[in-house]
Amino acid sequence: MAEQIAEGLYRLDIPLPGNPLKNLNSYLLTGERNLLIDTGFRLDACREAMEHQLRELGVDLRRTDLFLTHLHTDHTGLAGELHRPGCRVYIGAVDGPLMEKSWGQERWDHLFDQYVRAGFTRAELEEIWRDNPAKVLGTKHLEELTLLEDGGELHYGGRRLQVLFTPGHTPGHVCLWEQERKILFCGDHVLFHITPNITRWDSMDDALGTYIASLEKIRDLPAALLCPSHRQVEGGLAERCEALRLHHMARLKDAREAVMRHPGETAYAITGFMRWEIRCRSWEDFPSNQKWFAVGEGLAHLDHLERLGQVESREIDGQVRWWPVPAEH
Ligand SMILES: [Zn+2]
Repeated sequence: MAEQIAEGLYRLDIPLPGNPLKNLNSYLLTGERNLLIDTGFRLDACREAMEHQLRELGVDLRRTDLFLTHLHTDHTGLAGELHRPGCRVYIGAVDGPLMEKSWGQERWDHLFDQYVRAGFTRAELEEIWRDNPAKVLGTKHLEELTLLEDGGELHYGGRRLQVLFTPGHTPGHVCLWEQERKILFCGDHVLFHITPNITRWDSMDDALGTYIASLEKIRDLPAALLCPSHRQVEGGLAERCEALRLHHMARLKDAREAVMRHPGETAYAITGFMRWEIRCRSWEDFPSNQKWFAVGEGLAHLDHLERLGQVESREIDGQVRWWPVPAEH
């Protein structure tokens, strides 16, 4: 059921069955024109929950624009179906073109090559590809996207929403900030109970460093109401930003120690030596798709350590291997 969380602002609870994220929070701002923030997967369970709650609130989609915080399919999957002619679909100027690219095979072939170089076998990657949500649950082609720039503004129901670029989780992630009522729509930039996935991206040299800088960018906003895209809120913004930063500092230490204990291994092997919260007896027991996310995180941490001059990588026989750089005295 949709929940009113402020005047003219509703949270729609969209289930994500079988996904460890559990749910997506879609937000609806009502007014002469409505703004619907994020959509859920292109999946029956999401579609039914969305349609039911929109009906409950009497929303006319012909007067509803969409805002996508970032390109991930749990946020964008239903956009094509919810969009009506003459309505807008907003997305950040960086993620918009990347989302369009992800509809083609080329990007995935390139990513596969990268993950083979990181230590995956082709067989594992083919298994992952079979149920890749980006392939099956993403939106169909969208006619026209309205690309937003950092610092831009949207006006809905007499409210002014400021566009804040917060790259890291994706290269073009966007938060919306309503200064007057002190409401922050955080997307997946700041989540509570779970930590946003940070992975390697071609278009960011250092995804983790970029993410941490984006935490700094918003941490001191005087937010009174936080609207994250998944789960609930617990505690304040600055406190959570700091906890997320510390989480990654601990992961960096963990990754560096794994490289020191096992020099010359691939990111795949190093990730297996890192500590994970998932309940599996061993790295071999990790489901393949969880390995994909885990190695992506491992790579983001290794890239950042390389940037800091603490590890180095070399490609040998088609695989990229990692070594510690001895600390200078
Ligand atoms: Zn996401």
